[in-house]
Amino acid sequence: MCYDAGRMGTRRRVVILGSTGSIGTSALKVARRIPDRMEVVALAAHSNVAKLAEQAVEFGVRHVCIADESKCDELKRMLPSGVTVHVGDEGLCELAALEDANMVLISIIGTAGLRPTLRAIEERKDLAIASKEVLVMAGELVMSKAREAGVQVLPVDSEHNAIFQCLHANPGGSTEVNRLILTASGGPFLRAPREELKNVTLQQALLHPTWKMGQKITIDCATLFNKGLEMIEARHLFGIPIAQVDVLVHPQSIVHSLVEFKDGSLLAQLSCSDMCFPIQYAITFPQRVDGHLKQLHLEDMCDLHFERPRLDDFPALNLARRAAELGGTMPAIFNAANEEAVRAFVAGRISFPGIWETVQKVYEQISPHSSAMELDTILADDFAARTLVHQLLS
Ligand code: MG
Repeated sequence: MCYDAGRMGTRRRVVILGSTGSIGTSALKVARRIPDRMEVVALAAHSNVAKLAEQAVEFGVRHVCIADESKCDELKRMLPSGVTVHVGDEGLCELAALEDANMVLISIIGTAGLRPTLRAIEERKDLAIASKEVLVMAGELVMSKAREAGVQVLPVDSEHNAIFQCLHANPGGSTEVNRLILTASGGPFLRAPREELKNVTLQQALLHPTWKMGQKITIDCATLFNKGLEMIEARHLFGIPIAQVDVLVHPQSIVHSLVEFKDGSLLAQLSCSDMCFPIQYAITFPQRVDGHLKQLHLEDMCDLHFERPRLDDFPALNLARRAAELGGTMPAIFNAANEEAVRAFVAGRISFPGIWETVQKVYEQISPHSSAMELDTILADDFAARTLVHQLLS
């Protein structure tokens, strides 16, 4: 990792792609608290026009994008004159390339974040990445393009942000690392007996013990697919072989992740469970500022507990490890198959264990490309995996 200290103290002029979701609204909270370090220059949302218009007016942005083109006129009526409305996937790329901006926060779900990420890199904007898909599907491509362009890739996912902080505290860099240890809350079924998992309802799967998030990621936390995606994300972000990426269950979600170094020492990052922490650090890195965040009082905590994940009962972690070992487009296939399986679970078409059983079937029947350095190849295999899931479930 090489980061330019010359950018220290710069005011980030940020484009937020995905401003009405949970990461986007937390990012705006951060912007309100540290206005001298963060200015919001453009906002994009999928379809929530009312919330997007309200945000645009509050932050006085001159560019907004609505991904759902049918909502464009409705949005225009809600905005003051002088605000340019961009639409669709092309609009997201236009925002990522705005001359006014020096950073793009990618917090849109799904594959929609890929092209704007690459566009931002071309325009030499630093990236704050919250969308897992970007690094899972195209980690090699994105990280190599970012290196070539001298662009910073700052992780906003709490675990990766924690590892990023720990690595930054060690000037020896990643060559001195033994293991990255991602922590997982374990989700609502941490103690559920294996035979009960087949009866899990959607409502039960949506009850996350520590974090409030969108539906897809909450179900991914319950199946541990979220942690699987994060293993692959970590492998790319930090250039560490997947064999050195581990997971520990930590139900309190206070230790956000750890790094084990060659000498056996562990560094960890701890804070309250609030996404404003990683977002703010990505904005002010390598400095720290007072963002009026809730302080952690260790003396008030009765327990910080760690245990091994149940790899046999929740196969997502082994499936992720296999995808990362195979490389190429296999991680994109892992991601796409899971996304479609989750959709089928939400629609009541498959059981909770049906999610990983579906992904396992896709693994048996699909042949990935060995290189994932072309966006078109990645998207083609993403599509192939989704099609296969539909065939398997029809
Ligand atoms: Mg996370």
